[in-house]
Amino acid sequence: MTITPADWQSREALILAPWAMHAHASRGRVHAEQPHPFRSPYQRDHDRIVHSAAFRRLAHKTQVFTAYPGDYHRSRLTHTLEVTSIARTLARALSLNEDLVETLALAHDIGHPPLGHAGEDTLNELLAGEGGFNHNRQALRIMEFLETRYPQFPGLNLSLEVLEAQATRKRDGTAPPPLLETQVVDAADSIAYDTHDADDAIELGLLTLDELIELPLVADAAARVRDRYGLLIGVELRRAVLHELVDFQVAELISCARITLAAESINSVALVRAFFTTSASPGGGRIVTPSDLVATGKQQLEQFLFQRVYRSEQVMRVRVAVQDKISRLFGWYCQRPAEMPAGYRQRALDMGAPRSVADYIAGMSDRYLDWEYQRCLGVG
Ligand code: MG
Repeated sequence: MTITPADWQSREALILAPWAMHAHASRGRVHAEQPHPFRSPYQRDHDRIVHSAAFRRLAHKTQVFTAYPGDYHRSRLTHTLEVTSIARTLARALSLNEDLVETLALAHDIGHPPLGHAGEDTLNELLAGEGGFNHNRQALRIMEFLETRYPQFPGLNLSLEVLEAQATRKRDGTAPPPLLETQVVDAADSIAYDTHDADDAIELGLLTLDELIELPLVADAAARVRDRYGLLIGVELRRAVLHELVDFQVAELISCARITLAAESINSVALVRAFFTTSASPGGGRIVTPSDLVATGKQQLEQFLFQRVYRSEQVMRVRVAVQDKISRLFGWYCQRPAEMPAGYRQRALDMGAPRSVADYIAGMSDRYLDWEYQRCLGVG
């Protein structure tokens, strides 16, 4: 049996809601390509991300915790997979385009440099005179320019909706209002990192479950766990509470989104975008957004994590070491651009060494950065 574009079009017509982004309505790609005989445009985008070097390197990039012993905590890749899993659940429940949602989720963090936000902040300072550095902008550079896999074009030549979604993450007001597929991934990212950072932080001894349960959002989850399972303690209780925290937020988002879609009679992508622009709702025109009560609970949780985890003495101590390591390697390469691989060497000539060196360092995994630091500067 031959599968043709007509097959995926009719499949999408069957399962997607009118507010979903249908692949046949895509604005296409910067470099026009022939339709694939059996993959939809967004399936191709998904596969291009999975096969990219930038995606593979997420396996060895820091999410939050860098130099701790143990192998429990999330890497940038496992964070990405948790986001993708949550986003797919949301997408299916809302009859959105799962191919597009998975693409956006898998790609959303490919612009992160090694060593987490400390790495990003350091590169941003080093490029202060060159327009700065931001992981969301960097993801677009990778998609459009840096990743070279195909002879016909630079970058990955992804569908314009994928580039547009990534552009909304820059939050500089230049992107069109976000599709529901984009909103789902943003919401899933937030649910994933709030809960898994709390889980990792407890595992690493930065906070206790009892402290976490003092927060209203977590206390409610713990009460539901108690109703369902009776008395749990220790790690069993922790896993049940954090699972409930994800499950509850996902269910709540689906319910809120369905209410808004019905109340606002939204039955097209155009109306999704129009609602974003004109709505005065607390969700800022987002349809996939929690209720005020849950949003407040999330804010409290995030403030708590900021104080107790992201600004903890252990994380801040690593931060200083990261800044020093990246700054020294950056300076070393800026003096010796010829030491970089051919593409980066050429771009150092075309656009100046600092930006090309930042592109090179940003692409490194944590461990490759360590190897390079050792090789170039002779220290570990
Ligand atoms: Mg993320």
